[in-house]
Amino acid sequence: MAQKPEGLPQHIQHYIGGELVDSANGELFDVLEPTTNEAYIQCALGDSADIDRAVAAAKKAFDEGPWPRMLPRQRASILYKIADEVTKIKDQLAQIESFDSGLPIRQTQGQANRAAENFRFFADLIVAQVDDAFKMPGRQINYVNRKPKGVAGLITPWNTPFMQESWKLAPALASGCTLVLKPAEFTPTSASLWNGIMERAGVPEGVFNIVYGTGKGAGDALVKHPDVRLISFTGSLATGKVIYGNCAENMKHMSMELGGKSPAVIFEDADFEAALDSTLFGVFSLNGERCTASSRILVQRSIYDKFVEAYAERAKKIVVGEPSDPKTEIAALVHPEHYKKVTSYIEIGKQEARLVAGGGRPAHLPEGNYVEATVFADVPPTARIFQEEIFGPVVCITPFDTEEEALELANNCVYGLASYVWTRDIERAHNFASGIEAGMVWINSHNVRDLRTPFGGIKGSGLGHEGGYRSLDFYSDQQSIHVTLGDVHTTRFGATGYADNDLGLGGPSA
Ligand code: NAD
Repeated sequence: MAQKPEGLPQHIQHYIGGELVDSANGELFDVLEPTTNEAYIQCALGDSADIDRAVAAAKKAFDEGPWPRMLPRQRASILYKIADEVTKIKDQLAQIESFDSGLPIRQTQGQANRAAENFRFFADLIVAQVDDAFKMPGRQINYVNRKPKGVAGLITPWNTPFMQESWKLAPALASGCTLVLKPAEFTPTSASLWNGIMERAGVPEGVFNIVYGTGKGAGDALVKHPDVRLISFTGSLATGKVIYGNCAENMKHMSMELGGKSPAVIFEDADFEAALDSTLFGVFSLNGERCTASSRILVQRSIYDKFVEAYAERAKKIVVGEPSDPKTEIAALVHPEHYKKVTSYIEIGKQEARLVAGGGRPAHLPEGNYVEATVFADVPPTARIFQEEIFGPVVCITPFDTEEEALELANNCVYGLASYVWTRDIERAHNFASGIEAGMVWINSHNVRDLRTPFGGIKGSGLGHEGGYRSLDFYSDQQSIHVTLGDVHTTRFGATGYADNDLGLGGPSA
């Protein structure tokens, strides 16, 4: 096993009501290091008793504490301090994240910066927040009274865990909610840095709580808790369906960011080299454990052979190595269970299509969850590797002849998260983008985010959109307040009956 990062606790504890605590039943689980799959730390295994304690702390902080009552500017200044605290420990954070999740160190450094940026962004946004007001001269003024919704349950996945957590924490806190975070069980370690960050930044006790454990244990209890008003979930489609059902009982607000199988469509007039670079990065960065990965590349037939050959050549040269090595481009997959899933898809792919690069474990890395950059060509749309999310360094390439065929192939999938269109024809670019069934389309680019834009998928990729003001909307109730400015016309039931000019609807209208 590589050198353990410094500054780790003896074991990871829940953080409830401002205190580090063990599970009520004292149970722990092993956390594995993905280059050897040896346990390197233990973590508290929470269940419903711990969720009850955490939700009670969050509810008390919401009902009685200062956080929901602060001015946006006051909360924003604390969010700025959180960002500064993240920035101060970004090297340690990147090391822990890389060690725990198996992501290449250069990429976890980028994710640490992005986590800090998420707090600065939502701090700015909450101060600039405006809400609607409508006036009917002489009759009524109507305005939106924005209020934090209450206790939020945040459930996050293991890919880029700290950054994913920040993407939910920042808008929830900015909006004035209190919360319970349930991080993914494969990667709890970087989350254990949050409590120190929150304390040093001055987040009041009970506002931020964290309970570790499995989905079926702590996650399920959080979703079903009657005092949790909303669930923001990022994870797989299968889990999303279960949570959707479980939220119904208490009519919870839900936001779901689920899986993807995103197409990159490359027309013959595209900038060939740029499309090549972008689609390689798009699927092989973050070990391919990336929800917006361009994992189905559709290429116009006139440039198909040239593209497949160039793509395979580059994929063969991708450096697979230790997570801590700055030269590494793909490191170790997060967990042996996930390694098994990805490699079993590679075996399925060998029966379904033509393998042109990679295909298994690299010879120089005999242990740990390492997989080569793997490329399949001539993949039929009926293939499982074309339809199902693999979530590893595996890509499908499929030819098309016409624009219509490309659109049909792009949309022939249960998912609809991201998509990428490569062409120099401006009309085609816009029209094709509009026809794609996906929540997000990038034209001539991989995933470069403007945090103000909606983020999220359609079809099997999710419900609702977060990003920019939409995140603040999700974490707040928008109450309409109607104020009468003059006499209100009222039909006088039981007095005079209907007047001739009375429609029986009462009230003015614009
Ligand atoms: P997962 O669904 O297995 O787990 C996600 C989280 O849900 C974990 O914290 C888990 O403990 C919890 N969970 C599991 N069952 C639960 C239940 N019954 N009730 C409550 N919580 C439960 O997903 P994963 O394997 O950790 O993450 C990978 C998936 O996440 C991929 O499908 C990926 O595409 C998706 N993802 C989507 C986005 C996006 O923004 N759309 C971003 C990142 C990852």
